Formats: sequence, C-alpha cells, structure tokens
Amino acid sequence: MVEVSVNASRIKQSEIRIMSVECERVRGVNLAQGVCDTEVPEPVRRAAKAAVDAGLNQYTRLDGIPALRGAIANKLRDHNRLTVDPEAQLLVTSGATGGFFAACMAMLNPADEVILFEPCYGYHAHTLTAMNCKPVFVRLNAPDWKFIADDVERVITPRTKAIVVNSPANPSGKVMSRAELGWLAEIAVKHDLLVFTDEIYEYFLYDGHEHVSIATLPGMAERTITISGFSKTFSITGWRIGYAACPARWKTSIGYFHDLTYICAPAPFQHGAAAGLNELPKKFYEDLRLEYLHKRDLICSALTQAGLAPSIPQGAYYILADVAALPGSNSKEKAMHLLRETGVAAVPGNAFYHDDAGENLLRFCFAKRLTDLENACNRLQRLRAHATA
Ligand code: GLN
Repeated sequence: MVEVSVNASRIKQSEIRIMSVECERVRGVNLAQGVCDTEVPEPVRRAAKAAVDAGLNQYTRLDGIPALRGAIANKLRDHNRLTVDPEAQLLVTSGATGGFFAACMAMLNPADEVILFEPCYGYHAHTLTAMNCKPVFVRLNAPDWKFIADDVERVITPRTKAIVVNSPANPSGKVMSRAELGWLAEIAVKHDLLVFTDEIYEYFLYDGHEHVSIATLPGMAERTITISGFSKTFSITGWRIGYAACPARWKTSIGYFHDLTYICAPAPFQHGAAAGLNELPKKFYEDLRLEYLHKRDLICSALTQAGLAPSIPQGAYYILADVAALPGSNSKEKAMHLLRETGVAAVPGNAFYHDDAGENLLRFCFAKRLTDLENACNRLQRLRAHATA
C-alpha cells in the first residue's frame, strides 16, 4: 500500500478546527476558532465588490497589487514606525499564514532549531515541523507571561537559526514589552539569528499596552521578517489577505515560494484591503480596541463567575482559563464536557503546548458579535448552576 509521506504522518489536524466541527454538530456557540464574525468595514466590502464587478478577478503580480503594497508601506511607516520599500521589501500574501509558510520555506534548512514562546500558536510550531526543523520552546507562565533574556540564551545552540515572536500572542494575549523585545533583539544580533514576527493582533491592545514592531529596534531591520494581515482587523478571516515585509535580499525567494503555493493573494480582496487602509480613519482602530476591551471584560467576568479563572489578556482576542475544576482527565475531555453541558466550544489547552502543561486550560475566543458573546456568557452560568445544585 502506498503511504503518505513521513512529514504527513507527523502533521495532524489542528484542534482549533476540530472543535469548530464538534461545535457545529451540537449547534453550539463557537468560542473555539478565532473567527471574527463582527462586521466588515464598509470601504473594505465596497471596494472588494467593485473590484469583482470591474473585472479585477485575475492573477495579480506575485507580490500583490501596487495599490495595496503602497498602502501597507504607508501603514507600516505611520503605525509601526517601520520604513519599507513597497517594491523591494514587501509581499502581499495569502493571509499571515501564507506569509509565514513561504518565509519558512525560503529561510530554513532541515534540522534548524527555531525558538518559540510557549504557549504558542500551533500553526507556527507545525509549520516548522513540516519544514523538518526543530521547534525549541521557552515556557512562559500565567498570569503575566514574563521572561528574562537568560531564558532565551539558555536554549540557544549552534543549530539555532531563528526566533518566532508573536505579540500580541495567540493564545495567551501576552504583549511583549519594549524591554523584552530589546533583549530578543540583542540576542538575535549577538547570535546572528533571524526573527519571524507575526503581528496579526497588533491592533488588539488593552490596559495601556503598546505594540512595538521588533524590526524597528537597533540592528533588527536586516534580520526580521514582519508578518501581519487584515483577517482580524477588518474581520475578513476567509479572504486570506496578509503581508510579509523583509530585507530586499530575501524578497525574491519568499515570493517564489508563495507563488508556488498560492500564485497570488485573491485579487478583488486585495483591492478591498487597500481601500480599508486608505479610507478608514484612526477612530476605526480606536473603536475596535474599545469594542474588544468590552468583550474581553464581559467574557472574563462570565468565566470567573463560572469558576473557570481566566488569565486576563493584555492583547489579541483569546483567553486562557483554568479549567482544573471541570471533569475529564485532559483538556480535550474538559472541552467536550463544557460543550455538552453549556453548548460553548473552546480549544483544549494542549493545542498550545508540546507537553502536558495545557491539560488544565481552555482557550476562549471573544471575537464574536455581542449577542453571541452574551449568549455564550449566559450559557457558561449553567456550569455554576450544576456545581451548586
Ligand atoms: N488564528 C485563528 C485561531 O487561532 C484561526 C486559525 C485557524 O482557523 N486555523 O483560532
């Protein structure tokens, strides 16, 4: 019998998707997958529809339409304080995920070691596994997920090639401070490492936390690939529009691998994202933050009342909650118990750890319409009713 590749046998379906399927089965409220079902901003929708109607439906250049690259370069300059040449250093990608995959293909060799902060987003770790690289984990702990430079220095070996930064982080919501990013930058320069930074949640910040792009720190522009996208900010997770900004000498290779898998990012949606960047006022981003802050507080208090202590996120739109009190011998069983009892789906914590450190955690996503979130919060109270019955 012909078997799948060695690589294929090591890659399994993400627990994030599995829980969405389970949720669908019981018609529950899906707080598992990070689907933004909030409204798409009007200019974004309008420009994408207009592009379809105007016949802009064919392949674009492999690095994306000039209008979008120009708009992203302006955004990087104004928002991230990062100067990027949109011709030489910027690629529009099929989501941040497509950008990360192409960047890994272009930059990594088998057996390279790549440092990740744990809990980590499974797609980062699994993409590295797919490249035959070795993810090396630096463990961060609730509630503040702090680390010191030594925690990173300690895991560096002659095989270390790169560090993955994801701030604000999925799933912990940790926002790396300027000091922490400074340590990483110093380590990267000292050991001649590459940094992949996934900044997809850059606009989701709470309690005065600030987003810093590591590429802006001394010595970092020449060794950083800055990846982000519009899935979350414009609530268009299904459109697959992201970007990668990198030193000019790497762009051709990253672009080539992106071309091999995607040809280009979806053409009309590139026009939609460009309109969003060009037309939406600063207030849009401020309102977004306030809306999500309100939702964060809502679900955190519902989790607290239900006896599932949340770790309050500094950014992004996920919450890790302590579910030790739920029946079940691992996080998957606990997630299934919660789904059965309340109809609320969450992601088992083990999806974010390489060992059993996540077995008493569940991840809840609060990028939901307010009514759906309130419904989920009410349903979570059933747990309390059961516990006190
Ligand atoms: N990034 C989102 C999450 O973590 C969606 C990922 C996915 O659907 N695979 O839930």
